[in-house]
Amino acid sequence: MSKGLSPDQTREMFRYVGEKIIESKPLLTEIDRAIGDGDHGIGMSVGFTEALYKLNEKDWTNVNDIFKTIGMAMISSMGGASGVIFGTMFAGGVKHLPPKETLNLETLTMILDHSLKSVKERGKAEFGDKTMIDALEPAVKALQEFSNGSNSLLGGLMAAEESARVGVENTKSYISKFGRAKSLGERSIGHQDAGATSVWIILKSMREWVEQGNNEIS
Ligand code: ADP
Ligand code: MG
Repeated sequence: MSKGLSPDQTREMFRYVGEKIIESKPLLTEIDRAIGDGDHGIGMSVGFTEALYKLNEKDWTNVNDIFKTIGMAMISSMGGASGVIFGTMFAGGVKHLPPKETLNLETLTMILDHSLKSVKERGKAEFGDKTMIDALEPAVKALQEFSNGSNSLLGGLMAAEESARVGVENTKSYISKFGRAKSLGERSIGHQDAGATSVWIILKSMREWVEQGNNEIS
């Protein structure tokens, strides 16, 4: 059994993630303004504010309920395409997962793989369509391929973060096929996708939290 986080630590990690997303509101707004309608920063900030409120309401005995609660909070509070997409990323990730008391590398990989499948099923976008999938899919692949013998959650998160970062960079060369940027066609080239940027910030913040506190338990 590899090391991982308890439900309480998982909640702490997502509190930190939420704070970082809320801090990133101006950046996400600016990115979405270039080819979308400029509301992505506001939407993500509203979604995580609601998620943090719900996470603080009680203590959690498994990590599944934490992901589900974040997802439901996003769907109910954000509205628009990204409310459903990011809500599905969190809630869809744990839909058929048996209750887990530890968030370790294996469980996170399973969750994010289900997240990716759920988002694709819900939103019908594929890799290369200039959406958040362009960051999430490489991150899932990195987690699946990650192996350094230690099965470390931190190591997996580092690999996922880096792959998501490259994924975001690559969205600059794609033509938008979804959302409001779709109508821009080739004019969307040169700009990175806002939702992909959010996926990268989420993974980066998860990595930072685990790294900063050396927060893995055995
Ligand atoms: P809206 O498009 O309603 O203004 P946001 O600006 O908050 O919503 O979010 C836009 C982001 O949502 C895009 O940058 C993209 O990453 C993501 N997105 C939109 N549609 C889809 C989809 N069908 N599948 C996956 N991601 C999507
Ligand atoms: Mg928008």
